[in-house]
Amino acid sequence: MSDERTPHDCEDLLARLDDPSCQYCDGQLGIGPYKGSDAVLCEACGTPAIRVW
Ligand SMILES: [Zn+2]
Repeated sequence: MSDERTPHDCEDLLARLDDPSCQYCDGQLGIGPYKGSDAVLCEACGTPAIRVW
């Protein structure tokens, strides 16, 4: 067991968002599974809000 990689990249990204609200509905952004991994997405409608910086 040598898992040095942080699994919380999405939490860090979410914390950097100025406005953690969904652009498409009144939901709040959260962390959820998307395409087999965790991503920042809307907890209400499931639209991913993550961007590739
Ligand atoms: Zn939404």
